[in-house]
Amino acid sequence: MSTPASTATLKPRRLVLEMPEYHPPLAGREALRLDFNENTLAPSPLVLDRIKQITAEQLTVYPEREPAERKVAAHLGLDSNQVLLTNGVDEAIHLICCAFLEEEDEALIATPSFFMYDVSIAMMTRGLIKVQADETLQFPFERFIAAINERTKLIIVASPNNPTGATVSRAQLLAIANAAPHAVLMVDEAYFHFHGETVLGDLATTPNLIVARTFSKAYGLANLRIGMLAASPEIIGYLRKVSSPYNVNGVALDCLSVAIEDDAYITWYAEHIRMGRERVMGALDEMGVHYFPSAANFVLMKIGPLHKELVAAMRRRGVLLRDRSADPGCDGYVRITVGIGNQVPRGLEALKASLNEIGWRPMYGFTTTESKDEQEF
Ligand code: PMP
Repeated sequence: MSTPASTATLKPRRLVLEMPEYHPPLAGREALRLDFNENTLAPSPLVLDRIKQITAEQLTVYPEREPAERKVAAHLGLDSNQVLLTNGVDEAIHLICCAFLEEEDEALIATPSFFMYDVSIAMMTRGLIKVQADETLQFPFERFIAAINERTKLIIVASPNNPTGATVSRAQLLAIANAAPHAVLMVDEAYFHFHGETVLGDLATTPNLIVARTFSKAYGLANLRIGMLAASPEIIGYLRKVSSPYNVNGVALDCLSVAIEDDAYITWYAEHIRMGRERVMGALDEMGVHYFPSAANFVLMKIGPLHKELVAAMRRRGVLLRDRSADPGCDGYVRITVGIGNQVPRGLEALKASLNEIGWRPMYGFTTTESKDEQEF
């Protein structure tokens, strides 16, 4: 038997050694899940019916992505060569970075935002440029545009953004795309259904635009891992090259095909989330909790130094929140997902009781209305 080779010299790429890791707190989530911005109810009933019909033989074959891509493209009024289905938007971000970033390139994001951008970009280049929002947490448009230069090859903007729920107007997004014709702009529309504004209709006239959508949120399919990218056939061609042909499993593809036929369900769910969001923001006003007015299915609350205590107290009451304090510019902020139906009063009652229990008092001398006026919905 040969001795195992020494691992002393075994090293991944330098950038892999340096890149950050993302470990979302997924353990022990048997509770009211107001922590991950998932659908907190269920996908369309058509999806469950479809899953029950999956046969053993179907599980034995490799998945074929294209038929589902044709359906999704038709549903969105696009050609099928403009759509790539991915293993969630997480994989979509990864594929874009693989296809478009050289080690000497720069990639531009605004912070705070979704952490997977940092991870996938840092895997390819040290040139991650972050433009930090000021204390209003609005998208820093002027400084963002000013950060574009000839080395910029990838720009990612989430609208609505996570964790803030802030939006970036269509006009601003197109201005960014036009200011960087040598870069691709990925607009992350993961929370599109709770807002309603999209740049999907601008693909034909904006050659460097990529739109990302997920089926993890309104569609309630987070566990199936399915998302999509829409762009020009040329861009999708490059992304297809770097993707595995089997990146999305066949159960997810089958379920997606029926899920997109049930527009009524998505409209119903999104409408209830918008109503719930108003109720949550109204209750926060009453409690004196400052928050960022959100266009998504969550609200970012400014709790202050007792943020950890609040999350722990809520967990004891069976309600999960997400502490966002470690996000840049978010010290003391906690995010609450908007639930559906009686989850909203349940969450709010727990919040009131928990704030009381931990001795929280309104400590910020400003009201939420000023920032609400500035924010467009
Ligand atoms: N983009 C944003 C802005 C998100 O918040 C999330 C999920 N937290 C994703 C993308 C990832 O979505 P998916 O489940 O499709 O990977």
